[in-house]
Amino acid sequence: MHDFLCPKCNGHIRVGSHIIFKVKNDKKQEALLLLSPQIGNYTSLKHPSFEIQAGEYLEYYCPVCNSELISDIHRNLAHVILRDETGKCSDVYFSQIVGEHSTFETDGESVHVTGEDAGRYTYFKIGDKFRKYF
Ligand SMILES: [Zn+2]
Repeated sequence: MHDFLCPKCNGHIRVGSHIIFKVKNDKKQEALLLLSPQIGNYTSLKHPSFEIQAGEYLEYYCPVCNSELISDIHRNLAHVILRDETGKCSDVYFSQIVGEHSTFETDGESVHVTGEDAGRYTYFKIGDKFRKYF
């Protein structure tokens, strides 16, 4: 089973078949948002009282340590760590914009891109270099 970890505290944010985030919407309302650990599956679960709209910017937070998960690549992308069964870690970046489907997974060498909106982020930083792809 793949684990998902917070890059700040290394806390486990995958529990069972969901990755758990605390999010804040445009109205500064806070709630829990559950995403699929399957990359490319953009279904999400939330309580119906928490309203979000397509195109809205959500701030993602670690539910364990409360750190903001915004990446240093782009303010629209959140950053989490994926650890596979062998203990190998890669960085996963995904869009914080509601309804925008773009996910990037990188082991520092290559970037695996998923989602039909991924072309919006054509410069990708790996290590300390910027690499263009597409
Ligand atoms: Zn954390």
